[in-house]
Amino acid sequence: MARRTLKLVAVDRPFVVRGSKIAGKGAFATRDIKKGERIIEYLGERITHAVSDARYDDHSGPAHHTFLFNVNRSVVIDAYVDGNAARFINHSCDPNCESEIERGRVFIDALRPIKKGEELAYDYAYGRDGTETIEDEMELYGCRCGSKKCRGTILEEVTKAQRAKLEAKANRVHHEKHTAARTSHHKK
Ligand SMILES: [Zn+2]
Repeated sequence: MARRTLKLVAVDRPFVVRGSKIAGKGAFATRDIKKGERIIEYLGERITHAVSDARYDDHSGPAHHTFLFNVNRSVVIDAYVDGNAARFINHSCDPNCESEIERGRVFIDALRPIKKGEELAYDYAYGRDGTETIEDEMELYGCRCGSKKCRGTILEEVTKAQRAKLEAKANRVHHEKHTAARTSHHKK
């Protein structure tokens, strides 16, 4: 399939990629960045959700999730393939950047003024499909952004009612495990 060549927005890329406390590598501002400034376009292979699901098993580990960008219902950008430095921008629950989707293209813009040396981050807010458990949130999609507003997960925020449902489900799973253990013990 022919791939379109997308023009890079910022010739003067205002960040460097190096080790981060949040996760693996991160992007750090090399100069002050103005609020609203376009920082970089998120590039990679454009694939369908079906291809993405086939390519990456949901429970094989958390790492790959951070290189996939869900553009809309039909397109996912896989930054593992032909990705640029945008894939190193980490998630934060209290971010200084935001992702903007314009006509199917994804850009990372400054949400507020950023000082030279600050780590760039945006809220990944991964969509939920309703099957995620509290354990998934913490283990598979756990967040260690370190901000005071950290919600503990890179999944999108949920309402109080949704949160209660999740917790009820977690209790149920715990109860089932406990019951199963007891049953097997009695069988012996
Ligand atoms: Zn966080």
